[in-house]
Amino acid sequence: MKEFNLKTLIRPNILSLEPYSSARSEFKGTASTWLDANENPFGNPYNRYPDPLQLRVKAAVAQVKGVAEDCIFLGVGSDECIDLAYRIFCRPGIDNVVAMAPSYGMYEVCANINDVEYRKVMLGDDFALDTEAMLAAADANTRLMWLCSPNNPTGNAFACEQLADLCRRFSGIVIVDEAYIDFSDKGTMLSSLAELPNLIVLQTFSKAWGSAAVRLGMAFASPEIIGYYNKVKYPYNVNQLAQEYALKALADAPRVQGWVKQLLANRAWLVDALAALPLTRHIYASDANFVLVEVSDANGIYAYLRDRGIIVRNRNRIEKCLGCLRITVGTEQENETLIKALAEYGK
Ligand code: PMP
Repeated sequence: MKEFNLKTLIRPNILSLEPYSSARSEFKGTASTWLDANENPFGNPYNRYPDPLQLRVKAAVAQVKGVAEDCIFLGVGSDECIDLAYRIFCRPGIDNVVAMAPSYGMYEVCANINDVEYRKVMLGDDFALDTEAMLAAADANTRLMWLCSPNNPTGNAFACEQLADLCRRFSGIVIVDEAYIDFSDKGTMLSSLAELPNLIVLQTFSKAWGSAAVRLGMAFASPEIIGYYNKVKYPYNVNQLAQEYALKALADAPRVQGWVKQLLANRAWLVDALAALPLTRHIYASDANFVLVEVSDANGIYAYLRDRGIIVRNRNRIEKCLGCLRITVGTEQENETLIKALAEYGK
């Protein structure tokens, strides 16, 4: 393992930051009369600020994921967890990050918002991760590495051992975005957290958990890293409705397993049906709830489907995905509607 010193990676202004101390975090006991936070006494039950650290939700997440509660941060979607990583670790105009490419667009958007140089390392043949090229792209000011497994938009997951090897050989922070992990049989990095002090794993309620509208994302890391996340976040980032919803969802984890099973079966059906169409050039293997498909005319087919009210993601302009559409696995009926329309393309 390369030497890792977390404090040297934290932006100096964040290291010395005196965080906002919310009314609800200063007092932990029970009381009968709350006159501390300028809330309205009327409007129960949503007149009070929510738990700033979402302790009940974290206890439930800890149970479901097998991770200690102090290793969990909850954000307004993974997108908040992504943005906060820049704000904690990267000095604007000075530091840089290295990211595998193509991958999820928000890593680069957040780099640009935070004025941080974004260094892309293209995936190789069959969308393989090039560990040596990732390490070669880093220099003394590289604070973060972005990895996404299973990757959006390519759909493939990487072996945990390869991701762990990269963590061990890089002295900065490695973030593995596991938004689609529930659809993969390659395994999660969560079990390596204790061994890898520079690892942050991101997961979300937006995919397998069927709760994209709720906006709830999870970051898992050492208690020290989670401490910086808590220091920088908005005091009440996860609202009360989202916390209540999450508790209900977490209490019914088997429902999610059922959805995943169904979607994996639907993915297999969709892949077979796409393979039988003349317009299909190549279907990339998927560990996620979408498939990347190279087609005869991506722009034309995208527009054709759109005009029939069927929206897929056109990835034709993305390097390494030229000619490709990214198609989310839907219900049986949605998938049939898509295939029927594609079968009529050009007729
Ligand atoms: N990570 C990846 C890889 C994604 O594809 C997405 C959304 N498409 C996100 C994160 C964002 O997730 P959230 O809804 O939790 O912000």
